[in-house]
Amino acid sequence: MAKITRSISAKKSGVPSVPKKVAKKGAKVPPKGVAKKSAKAKSLKPKPWTSAEVYEAFSRFRKANPEPKGELEHLNPYTLLVAVVLSAQATDAGVNKATRALFAVADTPEKMLELGEEKVREYIKTIGLYRNKAKNVIALSEKLIAEFGGEVPRTRAEIETLPGAGRKTANVVLNMAYGEHTMAVDTHVFRVGNRTGLAPGNTPLEVELGLEKVIPPEFMLHAHHWLILHGRYTCLARKPRCEVCLINDLCRWPEKTV
Ligand code: SF4
Repeated sequence: MAKITRSISAKKSGVPSVPKKVAKKGAKVPPKGVAKKSAKAKSLKPKPWTSAEVYEAFSRFRKANPEPKGELEHLNPYTLLVAVVLSAQATDAGVNKATRALFAVADTPEKMLELGEEKVREYIKTIGLYRNKAKNVIALSEKLIAEFGGEVPRTRAEIETLPGAGRKTANVVLNMAYGEHTMAVDTHVFRVGNRTGLAPGNTPLEVELGLEKVIPPEFMLHAHHWLILHGRYTCLARKPRCEVCLINDLCRWPEKTV
């Protein structure tokens, strides 16, 4: 799963930009990341979505794709966890190419340890950062066996203790393997949350919490996939396809092309 890349410009990513100011000598500079908003910037803030609009948007996503699926191939919660760890800064297609053969021989932590780090490295060498990722796959397999009876734990806090797994990984695993109503924010969800005005935020966590707040529970199981797929295939970073967008009448992005 692609990670948020800071090289995407604020304008392209749809993240509200803060006008640059030259600070006067002696003037108080707000801490990094805490921008003081001018009255003008405040007035440009998109109008928040009403509950009825959010309901309408997700009803349309559901109608178009009632059972959205993630694109990372896996066989069980363990292989899903490994696939998500391998997907940091890599495409799902690239990860799938490598894991098809890997998971055919190692679909449990025990089999992964038996295979050993060197062979894991061989299987995943087409994926970026593969040396470090192979280390993490072995280390997380050891930890699963030592502390969790060989099973992927069911809480975010526990998953986050595994080598290579952060909040986003935990949210994906909890959602896809255990049906929890979590919202994993990758680069696509971050962009869509900001551009549409559904959940503006400067960090993935802000967007995650914003989305959790506005999306009705009945949509939360699939919301993560709807938003990822929307960002991946419609609300593209460089050239969003607003003309075919299901929610183009609701979207708040001032630069939408319809
Ligand atoms: S109209 Fe749709 S595709 Fe265009 S920016 Fe808004 S959400 Fe993205």
